[in-house]
Formats: sequence, C-alpha cells, structure tokens
Amino acid sequence: MRAFLYDQPATRVIFGVGALDHLAEEVRRLGARRALVLATPEQRSSADEAARRLGDAAAGVYAEAVMHVPIETARAARDVARRLEADCCVAVGGGSTIGLGKAIALESAVPIVAVPTTYAGSEMTPIYGLTDGGLKRTGRDRKVLPKTVLYDPTLTVSLPPRISGPSGMNAIAHCVEALYARDANPIISLLAAEGIRALARSLPVVVKEPAHLDARADALYGAWLAGTALGATSMSIHHKLCHTLGGAFNLTHADVHTVILPHATAFNREAAPDAMRVAAGALGARDAAQGIFDLAVRLGAPIALKDIGMPADGLDRAAQLATESPYDNPRPIEYAGVRELIEHAYHGTRPTL
Ligand code: NAD
Repeated sequence: MRAFLYDQPATRVIFGVGALDHLAEEVRRLGARRALVLATPEQRSSADEAARRLGDAAAGVYAEAVMHVPIETARAARDVARRLEADCCVAVGGGSTIGLGKAIALESAVPIVAVPTTYAGSEMTPIYGLTDGGLKRTGRDRKVLPKTVLYDPTLTVSLPPRISGPSGMNAIAHCVEALYARDANPIISLLAAEGIRALARSLPVVVKEPAHLDARADALYGAWLAGTALGATSMSIHHKLCHTLGGAFNLTHADVHTVILPHATAFNREAAPDAMRVAAGALGARDAAQGIFDLAVRLGAPIALKDIGMPADGLDRAAQLATESPYDNPRPIEYAGVRELIEHAYHGTRPTL
C-alpha cells in the first residue's frame, strides 16, 4: 500500500426522515441565537418553514441565492447578515444556497448549518466559489465547512426527476475522481465506492418514483459520501472541464457533469486501472465509462453537450481553456486528447472500449 495523508475535519451529521425537526436544537447547540435562513427564490417556502421552526432564533430569511454565487449576491447577503447581526447561517437548498452561506462565512466566520436538498455535496466540503465579472474563482477554507448537516430525505421528494438524475450524476463524479486523485487514500476510496453503489442503485428509482422515501434516503446517503470524497481529495480533468465549460458557456452545473463524466472516465481509463475496476464494480458494470453512460441514459438525463446549450463553434475554445494551465490528472493533459473528449461529449456518443 502506498503512503498517504488522512486529514478529515469533523462535521456533525443528523441523517434520516425527520432530521429537520432537530434544526432549532442544533442551532442552539452552536451557541447561536440569530440565524439567517438562506434559500433560492424557488425554495422560499422551505426557508420560511425553517424560520418558523427556529422561532425566536431566526433573525430573518434571505431567499436570493443563485447558481455560482455572483459577487453581487454575496455582497448583498453579507450586508443582510451584518444588518441583522446574524450569528449563524442556515442554508436550505442545493449547492447554490450552501455556496451563498459559505460566502457569508468566508467573511464573518459564522457557523453554517446546512440542510441539503440536492445531491451536489457542497455541505461536506471546505470549498467555496465566487463569480466576479463572469469568472468563477474557487478556494478552500475550513471556515466555510458547515458545522452541522441535517440530511432529511423528505425535503428531496420535491426535487424533479430532471434535476435529481443530473444532481446524482454530479455526486458520482466526485466519487470517480476521488478514486484516482493524486491524494487519494484508502478510507476515502471506501466512501467513494460506497457512494457510487448507493447512487447507482437509488437514482433509477428516484427518477421513476420521486416520492419513494427509501430511494431518496439512499441517494442522499450516497451524496453525503460523495461530498466527503470531494472535500478530502483534489479533483482532476473531469471537474476542471465542467468548471471551464459551465463558466465559459453558462451551462447548468449538474447537466455538464452528467454529460462529461463518461468521457472523462474513458479518457483516464488506461492511466487509472485500479480506480476503474472499483468504479465499475460499484456500478455493476464491466467498464466504468460505459456503466456511467448507460446509467445517465437510464435516468433520462442529458448525454450530449449539444443538447444543453453548448455552441458547436465553442469546442476548440473549450479544449484550449481546459489545457492552458497544468493540473493533476492520471493521464497527462494534452490538447488533442482533450479536444477529442469534448467532441465525444458534444455528440453524446457511448464511450467505446
Ligand atoms: P442548485 O442549488 O442551483 O439547485 C438547482 C435548482 O433546484 C434550484 O432552482 C433550486 O431552488 C432547486 N431545488 C433544490 N432542491 C430542491 C428541492 N428539494 N425541491 C425542489 N427544487 C429544489 O443546484 P446544485 O447542483 O445543487 O448546485 C450547483 C452549485 O453548487 C454550482 O454553483 C456548483 O459550483 C456548486 N457546488 C459547489 C460544491 C462545493 O463543494 N463548493 C459542490 C458541488 C456543487
């Protein structure tokens, strides 16, 4: 076994149907008395419900979160938090809402209680992102890692199948890249494999029967493991490409992940055989890349960049952007290979062996 570093910060997790019932008690446990509840405009009613449960411990609701945390939104939210003298953020939602909580915590160090309602996994990571002038900058800071996470599958029942499938594929992407990360370690690899297993078995049920609580719980469990894997390792070409494409062409985060993952996995197939074997086993497939592609098809999720808003004349630029700065990846990054990967993803062809 090769040498490794394991440095995992602790987050308190309450998991299961009814976890939200613990919200007021968990906020109190952090010593907070004035929690600012965050959400997207579409999830305003969930935020109001959380505030109602907090009673006197709710300082207010700010339901203006949007994707990729534009700096203007972050500044406005920070102003509200300051004005209300908030000493805690309760983020009810997906990666966008939790990201807004992180933007506040980055500046003020207030603790975050996260109540995730998608499978993106941001609640388990010290990674934050801020978009300024169309450019998204990410960083790591333990201040932004939520102190407490309440995983309540009941809250995910309303996530529509067309968002649930891609969101789950986004979580699988964290697991796949954690398996071949330069700083992979055996503990995180166990979590990553289990995350893939849980998501691969639950997502087909989730998209068919969105109210199936057991499947929703299983998917959320997988998302928790995936978020932990993302937070503990460095990501490679898949995340780099999704970041580049999403930012440059304004594509939906989870959709890009879904489309790129089979092709990024195929790109690394020969360079990371052990990770591929584990991922394929967890998917119940012969080949990891094909297994991921087939799962996306089964979920009715997007499989081609051309179908999610990528312009045909953007492929060269995308390949250029994704190869201009060096980063870790099992297979060396060069323009021709990445351009070919993007071409396959653009057309949505099944990876060949
Ligand atoms: P999102 O948070 O943007 O949510 C997508 C849509 O679904 C929103 O309209 C939201 O209101 C709605 N929604 C969420 N939960 C719902 C529910 N249960 N019922 C009904 N509607 C619901 O999407 P996301 O994919 O979770 O997050 C994407 C963002 O998170 C991106 O900006 C991405 O970069 C970031 N992210 C960050 C990390 C990290 O570690 N920092 C990890 C993953 C994603």
